[in-house]
Amino acid sequence: MTVAEERRKRRRVLIGAQGKKGKLDRLWGHAVMLAAGGICQLCGKPNSSDPHHLIHKSAGHRFRWVFDNGLLLCAGCHRFNTTVAAHGGGLRFTDLVREKLPGVSAWYEIAFLHNKQLGSKTHTLEELEEIREELESIIAEYE
Ligand SMILES: [Zn+2]
Repeated sequence: MTVAEERRKRRRVLIGAQGKKGKLDRLWGHAVMLAAGGICQLCGKPNSSDPHHLIHKSAGHRFRWVFDNGLLLCAGCHRFNTTVAAHGGGLRFTDLVREKLPGVSAWYEIAFLHNKQLGSKTHTLEELEEIREELESIIAEYE
C-alpha cells in the first residue's frame, strides 16, 4: 500500500469513528431523556430535553457515553438560570445535585476521581460498538 493509500485508509477509519461517536451522542441523550420521562431531574419541569453530562465529555471521553453520567435538565437548569444552571451556576449547581439527588452526587464524586486517576480514554471501534449495544438496550427498556 502506498503512503497516499494508507493515508486515505486512515482517514476513512477516522471518519467512520466520528460518525459512530455522533450516533452514540444521540443514543446517549435519547436514553437519558427516556429514563427521566422528559422531566427535569433538578426542578421537575416537564418536556425537558437537555441531557447533561455530569463529567463533561471533553474531560477525556471516559464517561462520555456512560448512562449514569447523564442528567436530564430543562433549558433553564442546563444553561439559562444563572444562579443554578449546570453551565453557569458553578458550585450552586453541584450543591443542588447533592441536596436533591444524593445517589447521583455520590456516583459523580466516585466517577470524578476515577476519571482523574485514569485520565483520558480512546475507545476502539469494538468498544464503540459495545457502547452502542448497551445504550440501545437501555432505550429498549424505556420505549
Ligand atoms: Zn429544570
